[in-house]
Amino acid sequence: MFTDDLSALSASGKPVLVTGGTGYVGGHTVARLLREGIRTRVTVRESAQQTAVRAALGRAGVAAGDGLLEFFPAELTEDAGWADAMEGVGHVLHLASPFPFVQPDSEEELIRPARDGALRVLQAARAAAVPRVVMTSSYAAVGYTVKPDGHYSETDWTDPDTEGLPPYHKSKVLAERAAWDFVRDQDGIELAVINPTGIFGPVLSDRPSASVGLVRAMLAGQMPVVPVMHFGIVDVRDVVDLHLRAMLHPKAAGERFIGVSGPPSVSLYGMGQVLRERFPSLAGVLPHTELAIEQVREAAKTDPGLREAAGLKGQRPVISNEKATSMLGWQPREARETIVETAESLVRWGLVVPGGES
Ligand code: NAP
Repeated sequence: MFTDDLSALSASGKPVLVTGGTGYVGGHTVARLLREGIRTRVTVRESAQQTAVRAALGRAGVAAGDGLLEFFPAELTEDAGWADAMEGVGHVLHLASPFPFVQPDSEEELIRPARDGALRVLQAARAAAVPRVVMTSSYAAVGYTVKPDGHYSETDWTDPDTEGLPPYHKSKVLAERAAWDFVRDQDGIELAVINPTGIFGPVLSDRPSASVGLVRAMLAGQMPVVPVMHFGIVDVRDVVDLHLRAMLHPKAAGERFIGVSGPPSVSLYGMGQVLRERFPSLAGVLPHTELAIEQVREAAKTDPGLREAAGLKGQRPVISNEKATSMLGWQPREARETIVETAESLVRWGLVVPGGES
């Protein structure tokens, strides 16, 4: 049924609008849509970014798709451009949101584009009578207020006032909440939300996202010692597939879906072990020591980079993908395959000097 729905969308000629098409998930999303023969509109902040999107498509093995691909300028913090971008669109995949390597001093730097940008996209979509928006939130909006039982599903919400919650995580909670509040008060627009855990898998652009930056840092020998930290992993190609399923499935309206490869979480140390098996020659530079949670807590007092790990309290969360698999027929890959393919693509595109500086 999903395949038939994709074919019908392709045949309809109605474009899908992708925000954040210059990003990691965005590149794979645009590639998949074009591969399915679906007209695709991409918003970019600057028109020069079209070149980078086309280069990413080349790495994905997709012809730039000139007949199917269009670009529209739009920035999350400004009203200009959104109405034009939405005209005649059948569906919106709202992926864009700041996802920095380093957390800014002012959380508003992230919250404003994430929350106000989501509202801008929803308002413009509603004004253009687009029936459904699929928004990329994050597991950051689900499971960062640690629960004693360690089991997490779509009914869980991160409390934005959780002590030590990084600004990025807060921006995702507040943006998702604002989006749900918006559609609750409006008729004529449906929302479905995807809450991916850490996204890994093949890299298409020269600018790896913050998540992939972890694997790059490990390969480059920058993380010989890692904090104890367990988290969910999902393959970027499966995240795209989940968005498309949520875009087309009648029952997905009004629902959030966690994207995770499977309930057992992985750890930074465990990722290092997977990489060691694949790249035995790098064993000396890959993570070899895991800091206990007491050490992480102490170190986080002076190192803001460790606050996320400290906040997770060393818990090994069990994160359910039951809703996406049973309701939408989603079938994610194994985490191990995803980790290995992340590293292989970084090496293939020369984005890391294994064992050296990246
Ligand atoms: P990414 O590669 O950093 O992409 C972020 C995208 O958002 C880029 O296209 C960026 O455009 C755009 N963007 C940021 N600020 C913007 C602004 N003010 N106006 C317009 N566009 C703006 O990160 P990603 O991994 O693809 O993330 C895509 C989505 O997935 C985000 O919503 C992120 O929160 C979510 N997510 C990611 C992960 C993960 O592990 N990667 C996990 C869970 C959820 P520019 O290229 O112009 O900067």
